[in-house]
Amino acid sequence: MRIYRFLHENKEYFGAIKEGRVYPFPKSEISKDFDFSPSAQNLDIVCVNFLSPVSPSKIVCVGRNYAEHAAELGNEVPKTPLLFLKAPSALITDGDSIIIPEQSRQVEHEGELGIVISRECRKLTENDDPFDFVFGYICLNDVTARDLQRQDVQFTRAKSFDTFCPVGAFIETDLDVSDLLVQTRVNGVIKQDGRTSQMVFPVDFLIRYISNQMTLYPGDLIATGTPSGVSKLNEGDVCEVEIEGIGILSNPVSK
Ligand code: MG
Repeated sequence: MRIYRFLHENKEYFGAIKEGRVYPFPKSEISKDFDFSPSAQNLDIVCVNFLSPVSPSKIVCVGRNYAEHAAELGNEVPKTPLLFLKAPSALITDGDSIIIPEQSRQVEHEGELGIVISRECRKLTENDDPFDFVFGYICLNDVTARDLQRQDVQFTRAKSFDTFCPVGAFIETDLDVSDLLVQTRVNGVIKQDGRTSQMVFPVDFLIRYISNQMTLYPGDLIATGTPSGVSKLNEGDVCEVEIEGIGILSNPVSK
């Protein structure tokens, strides 16, 4: 099911859409259980203002999680997941512009599967099922100023410019993510063409591992790494990230 976030009469809700009607539930009751019956509260789609579907306390990213991508940048595959944070202020959604900052001459796309956390997730053990803590999945573009990433010791600046975290318009809640196409196109030309089965550390491993480094809260976002084929974005380009079973995230690029 596709879950959206929106404002109605200045209140924030999550909700699903069916036949032009929006079925809301309060943000505090984030849930996959929907009542689509005629008696359930529902709103006309034209009466709501859609928001980016996630509002995370943090965006946890995984670097070099596809061997061919690590190799194309001259890096080894890490022995444990390489984690870094991206500022939530970088978030935009489908259709918004990726803005190339003055400081960079080499802004690149990184199409990735995003994981949205459903409930507090801390120190999971082998006995816990990490998928019990997943609300759903989202298309994500981990936009990166590659020149600044090479220049700095930490990735923070290169990864966190405003508009450097486009995410899709909705969260997909019902999905087997073990082997999905992750494809990125620039102006319709395929640049990245990987599968989630190529991840060095798969989704369940990542959630368990990250939960042992920091507490994950409802709505937190994990970017699971990018396949090979990253390339430069230029003003006027349109960058699309498509994930099988979710959909397409499309963003124009401007200065
Ligand atoms: Mg990345």
